[in-house]
Amino acid sequence: MLLAIVAVGGAVGFRTLLEGLGQFYYLPMVPAVVITAMLARRPATALAVALSIAVNLALVPRESLSDALTNAALFAGVTWLLAEICWGLRALDERTRDLSRQLAAKDAMLNTALASVPVVTLEANGEIRRLNPAAADLFALTEKAARGRPFAELAPGFDIKATTRTGATGGPLESKDAHWNGLRPDGATFPLSIQYGIVPGSSGGEHVALCLTDLSRWHAADAQARELHAQLNKVWRLNSLGEMAATLAHELNQPLSAAATYLHASQVDMERAGPLGDSALRTAELAKGQLLRAGKIIRRMRELLSLEVRRMDTERASSMIEDLGPIFTMIGASKGVAIRLDLEAEDDRVQAERIQFQQAMVNLTRNAVEAVGDRTSPEVVIVGRTVSDTQYRISVEDNGPGIADDQIDRIFQPMTTTKSGGMGLGLSVTRTIVESHGGRLQVSRSALGGAAFSFTLNREPSVETV
Ligand code: ADP
Repeated sequence: MLLAIVAVGGAVGFRTLLEGLGQFYYLPMVPAVVITAMLARRPATALAVALSIAVNLALVPRESLSDALTNAALFAGVTWLLAEICWGLRALDERTRDLSRQLAAKDAMLNTALASVPVVTLEANGEIRRLNPAAADLFALTEKAARGRPFAELAPGFDIKATTRTGATGGPLESKDAHWNGLRPDGATFPLSIQYGIVPGSSGGEHVALCLTDLSRWHAADAQARELHAQLNKVWRLNSLGEMAATLAHELNQPLSAAATYLHASQVDMERAGPLGDSALRTAELAKGQLLRAGKIIRRMRELLSLEVRRMDTERASSMIEDLGPIFTMIGASKGVAIRLDLEAEDDRVQAERIQFQQAMVNLTRNAVEAVGDRTSPEVVIVGRTVSDTQYRISVEDNGPGIADDQIDRIFQPMTTTKSGGMGLGLSVTRTIVESHGGRLQVSRSALGGAAFSFTLNREPSVETV
């Protein structure tokens, strides 16, 4: 308001100065209103207009009232229009400043984000126009040394035409191989992935921005994971081999003892033959000694193999099976089979020796996967259910050929196999493990159409809460 009064006061003074030159009406008052509009808001501007009209009416004698009113209305209309233009310009200026602030913030954010990403921009002919510090580090080059060189020198096989061929404005750039190879000045190469984007609005000198990713670490991690998988698989196979050797020792022990008994019986007969049988008796004695020695070696081997104290613990059946996830993935991947788990995880606390139990599960699952290997939609499911207060049942089911009725007894015998590389020990080892857990390994026809191997584990009574 004060501004309006001062501005109008100034205009009156200016007008008085001009009086020597002639008679002025409203014209000297116009700047007072415009200045007020530029610096203040509507109420102050309205006051400036009103004061200007009042001063003019007081100072300029008019011939008629209508003349005075028309001039006042004209002055008010014109100056208000000028004021509106001022305000519009001011709002536009504020908006422009606001937008450039936002743009600067976005620019700073983009620069920060891109600082760690190697980016190279190319001319339309594939020559390097610019590369940011991260890209310079990646290729062990300075920007100066890189500028103007064809990007194909840094990524052999790169062709700028591939970026425009599809008509898309950007995306991943496929390489002939699984990935691109970056080339450093010392000849070292590294795996690389390239994302491109055509920079808009740069037709003619149209250029392309390439966003690069160094895949070295990813490749190293992948190789390490594969190595670990292979090692894990080996450990499981070795463990299985240990179990198999124990079973083998058990199986061999019986015929050896029987042979020793037969030899002993024949020695008794030979004794009856008198001196004639003496030589044969001594040879039989030597043979019996060797058989007993073989028996001792086998017993020693069994003792060694069962050296680890195997203690039953309370375990959760679902967790013992779920922990085998990576092994199942690996076993399944070899035949392209996804192994599905369908486990009841409530009240699944059982008595088990974790490693032995898991070994049995691996054996059954491996057999199931091998059985469905040539099916068009192979299925292997591991089902776990609480079947009574005392038992939790586990079954490994598949949609393979199943087991013929007359084969059911045979397959559990050691050395029975239908596979060219099979040892025929997996099922007998598994049966031994299941029996040591107080269960019985059974085979039936699965609802999936193939075999279902199942057994039960003793449940740990759940703790009663009062
Ligand atoms: P291996 O796997 O070395 O042959 P196993 O004792 O584990 O030894 O299995 C014996 C045989 O039982 C196998 O050769 C196979 O013929 C049969 N068998 C085992 N599991 C299955 C199954 N899920 N489906 C069909 N046949 C099976």
